[in-house]
Amino acid sequence: MKTLALVVPCYNEADVLKLFYTETKKVVESIKDKYTTELVFIDDGSKDDTLKLIKALAAVDQSVKFISFSRNFGKEAAMLAGMDYAVKADYIGILDADLQHSPTLIPEMLRYVDEEGYDVAAARREDRKGEAKLKSLLSESFYKIINKVSETKIIESAQDFRIMRKDVVKAIISMPENIRFSKGIFSWVGFNVKWIGHTNRERAAGNTKWSITKLAKYAIDGILGFTTSPLRISFLLSFLSFFTSFACFLYAIIRNLINLLYVGTVPYILSGMFIIAGLIFICMGIMGEYLARVYTESKDRPKYIISQTNTQVKYSFTEDE
Ligand code: UDP
Ligand code: MG
Repeated sequence: MKTLALVVPCYNEADVLKLFYTETKKVVESIKDKYTTELVFIDDGSKDDTLKLIKALAAVDQSVKFISFSRNFGKEAAMLAGMDYAVKADYIGILDADLQHSPTLIPEMLRYVDEEGYDVAAARREDRKGEAKLKSLLSESFYKIINKVSETKIIESAQDFRIMRKDVVKAIISMPENIRFSKGIFSWVGFNVKWIGHTNRERAAGNTKWSITKLAKYAIDGILGFTTSPLRISFLLSFLSFFTSFACFLYAIIRNLINLLYVGTVPYILSGMFIIAGLIFICMGIMGEYLARVYTESKDRPKYIISQTNTQVKYSFTEDE
């Protein structure tokens, strides 16, 4: 019998958790002849009854495991904690608690990784129905930018919803970065991925946990985490500003020399100064962003802190099973 662990990050999902459990359990039952399945709930510092509900499920169902964080560390940390624990299984799946990632897709995903030789079966969204216009627009532009500037290609509609072979998960959790951008990490580790089209569903209950500021931070982390090309902008801008100011300088001299119109030097000096100061600030800002990330990574703080669990979480797979 093969083992499957389904990792479910949960942040304030009390409204939907019961429904998620019943729906997922139906699917688990339908594959129980071939797979022993564990449901690994990660309570990411929820403030509602999420943990209470998960504990109640764990009390009656042995296959329910939970890991509860000491505070909200974010979905990235929750997925990582789930994978750190679940890497012992043959196949590891990740899906959202709100039923936007339909559990009914799991048997098909398993078929690809278990029978057809794929390492990963991942869902990609076929449309953006049910999503705010502004959010769709911003996220489309984000993927355009990141794919232009980064060598790691990120599929626009790729979702975190996937089932992976153990080796893929080992590779993912071996990546030490603190500021994690899973879509980039999933793509960076490579392997043979089968993409499965998936229509976007409305959340079954509760609200999205992503605010515009949280999404903007996620986008910046994604870009800065997977490319250093913004640093090269400084180089480009310095050339640009040098040639513009040089051209202005020549223009002023020539005009003054042939005395066509004496405009004085003050406008040139002032505009030149402002242009250059602006460019310097842009470059400093970009370097600052990278420096801040070096600082965060160098502190090497734990990526999450567990306050309660009914399992044993392995922090590093190098200890080996
Ligand atoms: N989530 C989490 N920590 C957070 C935010 C979200 O574990 O800080 C979980 C959330 O409970 C859900 C999944 O990540 O299971 C996706 O979140 P959400 O549905 O709010 O995102 P959306 O589908 O709107 O992009
Ligand atoms: Mg959702």
